[in-house]
Amino acid sequence: MTDADADPGMNGMNDKDGADGADITVDIAVVGAGAAGLSLAHRLAGTPGPHGAAPSVALVEAPGEPGSGTRTPPRTWCFWEAGEGPYEQAVRASWDRLRVRCPDGRTAEARLGPLRYKMIRSPDFAELVERRLARLPRLHRPAATVDRVLDHPAGGAVVHGTDASGSPVRVRARWAFDSRPPRRLPAARSTLLQHFRGWFVRCAADSFDPSAVELMDFRTPQPAHGLSFGYVLPLGRREALVEYTEFSAAPLRREEYERALRHYTAEVLGLGGMTVLDTEQGVIPMTDAVFPRRAGRCVFRIGTAGGATRPATGYTFAAVQRQSDAVADAWRRGRVPVPPPAHAARHRAMDAVVLRALAAGRLSGARFFGELFLRNPADRLLRFLDGRSRWWEEVAIGLSTPVPPMLRSAVELPVLRRRDAVLPRP
Ligand SMILES: Cc1cc2nc3c(=O)[nH]c(=O)nc-3n(C[C@H](O)[C@H](O)[C@H](O)COP(=O)(O)OP(=O)(O)OC[C@H]3O[C@@H](n4cnc5c(N)ncnc54)[C@H](O)[C@@H]3O)c2cc1C
Repeated sequence: MTDADADPGMNGMNDKDGADGADITVDIAVVGAGAAGLSLAHRLAGTPGPHGAAPSVALVEAPGEPGSGTRTPPRTWCFWEAGEGPYEQAVRASWDRLRVRCPDGRTAEARLGPLRYKMIRSPDFAELVERRLARLPRLHRPAATVDRVLDHPAGGAVVHGTDASGSPVRVRARWAFDSRPPRRLPAARSTLLQHFRGWFVRCAADSFDPSAVELMDFRTPQPAHGLSFGYVLPLGRREALVEYTEFSAAPLRREEYERALRHYTAEVLGLGGMTVLDTEQGVIPMTDAVFPRRAGRCVFRIGTAGGATRPATGYTFAAVQRQSDAVADAWRRGRVPVPPPAHAARHRAMDAVVLRALAAGRLSGARFFGELFLRNPADRLLRFLDGRSRWWEEVAIGLSTPVPPMLRSAVELPVLRRRDAVLPRP
């Protein structure tokens, strides 16, 4: 451990509520109760430190209902894992087969071996985690809109926010983890947006194969720049979440997503007698930016804000779990709990090449991803995306991509300037 990494402690304060004028004083403050904040609080609250005690934790979430004010709207998270995971009770559906359909109709269909592709709805996840956290005596849940998370001059960190009535809220902590979604992205050579809208549908007749996920269906009309695909998560023979997704520079207007979804469900999937029960919409940044995970001596960033989103795919949930495990492990050992990089440098480099080739229009994205699944076993690709592939598997994946545009993109990356990008409001 270097000097800069040494635990600075919290001089001038004791471990009681109200110390140093703060409303709450804890070992760990977690800002934001989304995927990253809830996962981290869940892992930490059950992890004894080197002196035997689990940390006291303040989980600070903005007041109001999900989707109102600064609160993130409800969403659906998918990820894959082998066997039962810690959030099994919240898993709404899972599948052991994936399909990817190329624009010309060729289909890659794969069994996932020991893995299952799982779907969790964020309200179910929050309910499960909150039920478990409610049993813990040293957990605080202040509702405050946080505007600053800073190092405290006397050591530790301080979280500044405002509650629903406009009164200031201050939380002092030995360590603070901030998951507020970034409005500005760090400068990058390539930034695309993965943007989508989905319908939860019910059909009058059997219409879906509940045993397989349609991961990428490229039979959608392809946009002039970037790519588009349908995504179908069947929840039964008659129910599914059906999404229209694009990877491109800017999101669509709501009516454009609706038109694309009407076309996909009616013309491509041939669904009739269909009722839309609910909708979901989102934007995920796909960027080769480097997200600082340390915002101060005692302040760290986690989740999307801490670079947990895989640049070439947008998957984040599994990386958030790995980061939470690593932070909890550092706490247990009494080390400075800096979140580790969510993705290995060589995987980020491979993703940067793909993003550059897509952003420069050198690849037909639909053909690229279709061929990737036709030419590689799906479980190899999923392990690659989770950072668990072997080097020779990565070479095989690289060789299955169109080499000239990838090489050209790889060669020009070192000389490209990084530019700022602003995320559109959800
Ligand atoms: C619609 C959608 C679907 C997605 N699906 C998948 C998927 O299937 N698989 C996958 O791996 N990834 C998916 N992602 C990407 C990623 O997993 C999610 O964005 C995930 O929610 C990121 O977790 P997070 O904790 O970083 O951010 P969030 O989950 O957004 O959590 C941030 C939290 O901070 C709170 N907050 C914000 N501002 C403040 C403030 N000022 N003060 C206090 N609290 C604040 C918010 O209310 C929220 O609870 C999806 C993203 C979207 C948008």
